[in-house]
Amino acid sequence: MPKLLKVIAIDGPAGSGKSTTAKEVAKRLGWTYLDTGAMYRALGLAVHRAGGNPEELNDVEPLLDKVEIGFGTGFPPAVLLNGEDVSELIRTPEAGQAASQVSTHGLVRKRMVELQRAIGIKQPCVLEGRDTTTVIFPDAGLKIYVDGSVEVRAKRRLHDYTVQGHTMNIEEVIADVIERDKRDMGRKESPLQVAEDAVVIDTTEMNMEEQIQAVMDVALDRFGGSSR
Ligand code: C5P
Repeated sequence: MPKLLKVIAIDGPAGSGKSTTAKEVAKRLGWTYLDTGAMYRALGLAVHRAGGNPEELNDVEPLLDKVEIGFGTGFPPAVLLNGEDVSELIRTPEAGQAASQVSTHGLVRKRMVELQRAIGIKQPCVLEGRDTTTVIFPDAGLKIYVDGSVEVRAKRRLHDYTVQGHTMNIEEVIADVIERDKRDMGRKESPLQVAEDAVVIDTTEMNMEEQIQAVMDVALDRFGGSSR
């Protein structure tokens, strides 16, 4: 039997709680955590700073060779844009939209996937995003798809934004979530979809600890006691 690749890939739509889940599962297993969306967010920020439009490949392409996107060494690792810690700056609703827009370009995705695979292959890793199970690691030892109703996902997003000091109302966040789902699922390049052999977890009725535990249960079952 081929050796199981020690990679847990978690995909799901906006607000499905995959970041918190992946981070916590990585921490409990002692594995590396890779937030692939943060890389698109950092690139989106770079495009905004350069005065460009993230929807225009002509504005994005020249930056691909100029910007360096990576992670620090702490936990969770800081997101670095040309060495600057942009972990907080990329969490705004605007950065989320810019990320969603830059991520529709095939060339951008190709570069990101190369980087992400290189990071994830080095050591046991938990990564999350929209294409981690289908494109980055179709050979992951464990693939998870986390889902949830639009209303529940929007409520979680609103909570995050409020904690971060952004004022938005639930209607705006529902509209944002629906728009992002539509773009992420409908795009030509690597649309968000459920991998054939993914374990699907519906989190609508779950709290965060239940969601984390659900993933931990499958992970320990799949990888056994040798989680480190
Ligand atoms: O997960 P997060 O909300 O940080 O992702 C921001 C945006 O980046 C998503 O809406 C999606 O369009 C894009 N993304 C992607 N592929 C990934 C991760 C994120 O297209 N692997």
